[in-house]
Amino acid sequence: MTRAVYVSNYTPVGDLIVVSICYVMLVLMLFSYINKNHSFKVFFSTVLLVMAAALTDVIYHKLGETGNADNMQTIYILRCLYHAFLFMVFQMFTVYITVVTRLGRRMKLLFCGLGGLIFIAVVGLDIADTVRGISVSMSDTGLVFQSRGVFTYGYAAYLLVIICELFYVRKRLYRRVMLGFYGTMAISFLILFLAGRRGQQSFTVVTFLYPVIAMFYIMHSTPYDATLGAIDSRAMQDLVKNYYERGRDFMFMSLYMRALDEEGRTLPEGMRAVVRRFSTDFFKGSTLFQLNNGHVLLLFPLSRNPDYEKRIQNILIAFQAEYHRFRFDYKIVIGQSIDEVSRKNEYVSFIRDIHRGMEENSIRRIGPDDVKRFNSNEYVLRELEDIYNQRDLDDPRVLAYCQPVFNIKTGKYDTAEALMRLKLEKQGLVYPDQFIPLAEENGYIHILTEIILNKTCKAVRKLIRQGYAVSRVSVNVSAVELRDDKFCNDITRIIDRNDIQGEKIAIELTESKTDNDFMLMKRKISELRERGIKFYLDDFGTGYSNMERIMELPFDIIKFDRSMVIACGVNERSKKIVLSLANMLSEMDYAVLFEGVESASDEQMCTDMSASYLQGYKYSKPVPIERLQDYFEQTVA
Ligand code: C2E
Ligand code: CA
Ligand code: CA
Repeated sequence: MTRAVYVSNYTPVGDLIVVSICYVMLVLMLFSYINKNHSFKVFFSTVLLVMAAALTDVIYHKLGETGNADNMQTIYILRCLYHAFLFMVFQMFTVYITVVTRLGRRMKLLFCGLGGLIFIAVVGLDIADTVRGISVSMSDTGLVFQSRGVFTYGYAAYLLVIICELFYVRKRLYRRVMLGFYGTMAISFLILFLAGRRGQQSFTVVTFLYPVIAMFYIMHSTPYDATLGAIDSRAMQDLVKNYYERGRDFMFMSLYMRALDEEGRTLPEGMRAVVRRFSTDFFKGSTLFQLNNGHVLLLFPLSRNPDYEKRIQNILIAFQAEYHRFRFDYKIVIGQSIDEVSRKNEYVSFIRDIHRGMEENSIRRIGPDDVKRFNSNEYVLRELEDIYNQRDLDDPRVLAYCQPVFNIKTGKYDTAEALMRLKLEKQGLVYPDQFIPLAEENGYIHILTEIILNKTCKAVRKLIRQGYAVSRVSVNVSAVELRDDKFCNDITRIIDRNDIQGEKIAIELTESKTDNDFMLMKRKISELRERGIKFYLDDFGTGYSNMERIMELPFDIIKFDRSMVIACGVNERSKKIVLSLANMLSEMDYAVLFEGVESASDEQMCTDMSASYLQGYKYSKPVPIERLQDYFEQTVA
C-alpha cells in the first residue's frame, strides 16, 4: 500500500485563534453567571481539551520548523498527544450528548463505551505508527507526513458514533437545538474537507471549536433545556417586557405539577415528549419557559393565533389523553396578558398566587377578580413583611379575636380559642384564609404567633386579675414553626414575661404530614408540656388520620373538625364512624371537642357522642378578645 507523502503546509494562525477564543471563553465562564451543572462541567473540560490540542499542534510544528533532528522525540510525543486531545474532545462530545438528553444508563454506557474503544484503538495505532516512524519524519524542508491514515479513520469513526447518537436522541431533542448542532457540524465538516483537499493542516482544531461554541450558545448562555426546548424565567421576563413595550397582546398556558416541584424531580421522558409537542405543534410563534422543575409555561402572541380558543381546546384534549399515563397532580392556568401584571413583569408570582386557590387537577381561566385578589395579596404580603421587620409584640395591626368554648360538664364557658385577624389601613379587617397561607409560605408566620400569644397572655392575665374563671385559652401554631430550634424558648419567654402560668395556655396543632415533622412535634410537645402548656389536635378528621401516630403524641384535647359534624347529619354510617371514634378517644382519656356547632340539632348530636367541649356559631362567633368577659363567669369581684 503506498501512502501519499507531503511536506508540512502549516501556519499557526488557525490554532492561535483557537487558543485565544478558548481563553476568552474560559474567562467569561468563570466571571459570568452560569448554572454550573453537570453538563456545564463536561463542557468546561471540553474547552480545556480543545485549547490543549491547539497548543500542542502549534508547538510540535514550531519544533519541526527548526529542521533539527534532535527534536524528533519531542515531536513524536507532542503529535501523539495532539491527536489524543482531539479524540478526547470527540469523547467529550459523546458524553455531553448523553448528559444533556438525559439518556438512560444503558444507552449512555453503549455510546460512551463505543467512543472509549475507538479512543483506545486510534491512539494505540497512532503511537505504533509513530514509533515505527511511518507517520512523520524530518527533512531539510521541514516535517514530512505520510498521509494521516489513522487520524482520518479515527475521525470518521467518531463522527459516525456521534451521528448515530444524535439520531438515537432525535425524538428527545427540541428541534431548534438539534438543527443548531447539525448546522455547526456541517460547517466544521466543510472546512475540514476543503482544507484536506489542499493538504492544509492549520484548521483542524478550528473545526472542533465550532461545535463547542454552539454548545455554549445553545445550552449555557440562554439556558435551553435541550430536551424540552424550554428557556428559563429570566428569558420570560425579557419577552414579556418586549411584548409590553410594543403593545402586543399575548396568551399563556401554565402547567404546574406539585410533586415534581417539591421533590425537585425533573420531568420524566414521556412527559417531556408531550410538553415538547405542546410547545411546537399548537400555536404559532410560541415560546416555552421552564420556571422550575414542575412548572412550565407556554406563551404565544395573540395576533398570530386568532383562532386560539380552538387551539386551547385542542391542547387540553391532547393533555387529558396523555394525563392518564403520568397521573401527576396538575394545575393549569390559562390567561391573556394583563397590562398591570405585564408592567410589573410579575406573571410568575401572579400564577403562583392563583395556584393557591386552586384544587389539584383543575384548569383555571384568569378573570378580573384574580388580578384584584393578586393585588390585595401583594399588599397584605408587604404589610406582613413590615410586621416581621418591626418585631413589635404589640403590633396594632394584628388583632386577637377569640371564640369561647362551651364546657358540657359545667354548662359554662371557661376556655376559648384565639383566632387572628389583621387590620390593615387600605383593606380593613383581613381574615386568616387570606393571610395565613401567605405568612406560612413567606416565613412570616412565627412572628404572628408570637404577637397573638402575647396579646392572649395579656388578656388572660387581665381576666384572672378581675376574678374571671379562665381555665385556658388556646393559640394556633403552624407546623412550619416547630422546625425552628428557638420555638420552645420563644413560647415560654412570652408566657413568662406576661407573668401567667403555663397551664393557662394551650397550643393547637394539626397532624404532621411527614416523619420528620412528626418527630419534631413529639419532641417539642414533650418539652412544652413540662411547662404546663396543654396541647390540642386541631382539624381531626380532615387529613388521613394516622391513629397510631396520634396516640404516640400526648394531646389533651382532640378537636373534631366541622366536616365531621356535617357528616353525622348526612347518614347513619358516617354517624356511627364518628361516634365510635369519639368513644374510643374519650375512653383513652382524651377530651373530645366538636368544632363548628351551629344549631341546636348539632349540639344535641355532639353531646350524645362523648364530647366534653363544644365550639361554634351556636355559642358565639369569634369576638375581640376583650369581649371574652361577656362569656366567662366572674367568681370573685
Ligand atoms: P381553625 O383553627 O379550624 O379555626 C376555626 C375556624 O372555624 C375559625 O375560622 C372560626 O371562625 C370558624 N368557625 C367557628 N365556629 C364555626 C361554626 O360554627 N361554623 C363554621 N362554618 N365555622 C366556624 P377563622 O377564624 O377564619 O380561622 C380559619 C383558620 O385560620 C383557622 O382554622 C386556623 O387554621 C387559621 N388561624 C386562625 N388564627 C390563627 C392563628 O393565630 N395562627 C395560625 N397559625 N392559624 C390561625
Ligand atoms: Ca384551631
Ligand atoms: Ca379546626
